[in-house]
Amino acid sequence: MKNMTALITGAASGIGFGIAQSLAEKGASIIITDINEEAVLLAQQKLSDKGLSAIGIKLDVTNEQDVENLIKELAGCKVDILINNAGIQHVSRLEDFPMNMWQKIVDVLLTGPARTCKALLPQMRENGFGRIINIGSIHGLVASPFKSAYVAAKHGLIGFSKVIALETSDTDITINTICPAYVKTPLVEKQIKDQALQHGISEDDVINKIMLEPMPKKSFIDLEEINATVCFLASKQAKNMTGQALVLDGGWTVK
Ligand code: NAD
Repeated sequence: MKNMTALITGAASGIGFGIAQSLAEKGASIIITDINEEAVLLAQQKLSDKGLSAIGIKLDVTNEQDVENLIKELAGCKVDILINNAGIQHVSRLEDFPMNMWQKIVDVLLTGPARTCKALLPQMRENGFGRIINIGSIHGLVASPFKSAYVAAKHGLIGFSKVIALETSDTDITINTICPAYVKTPLVEKQIKDQALQHGISEDDVINKIMLEPMPKKSFIDLEEINATVCFLASKQAKNMTGQALVLDGGWTVK
């Protein structure tokens, strides 16, 4: 990863921060971005304290102005790897789902990656190289109740990526979507509480009877598994893998 620069959205927490640290440890220069400015600076500091190369920039992927400012701030700095990771969740049956929250989820999870790709593709094209990696979800392939916006957006992300794979087939740019089952991050910790309320069951039952039940392997996905997949997809050797959904689901979807 030496001489590579990676920009990660939603990188102040969870999976995004894990990817940032892992790519930095492999020698990449990292641009940590997140809607939460304070958390961005903290995340940057954590990597800098370890002697790793990172800068932090506030970026709300739903905000056109933020994306324009990002491109200005990056002037002269080429981005080789874009990780579309920023995410939110809301758990509710559709009848009770606030429509502004529904639209926000689609904006963050689907339109957000379209905005960042649109902004960075011209310079990737100019450099003749680019690796775009979306953090999708098992919910890009299968459904669960109470997650209509999230499931719709993650399914859409896979379709979006197939189109961009075709549009970039004339150069060494690839775009792929990693689809993990549950990973223990702040987003999931909150969901355990919300699902317990929605289903009227205990938090332990949410973990065992809802989250891990569909997975033959019955375990959360580790950050290391995602990091290793990112590392392969970002490599020069993965030049012919594009438009794909890579599934890390402990056998969920083969049943
Ligand atoms: P997380 O809550 O730990 O991190 C998400 C980050 O996104 C936060 O730092 C948050 O501030 C940031 N963010 C939210 N809205 C944003 C916006 N508008 N612009 C920029 N940043 C924004 O969650 P996580 O579990 O690490 O999730 C990361 C990605 O992984 C998400 O896309 C999520 O859907 C996906 N995912 C998570 C799991 C899981 O089980 N945790 C499973 C499959 C997929």
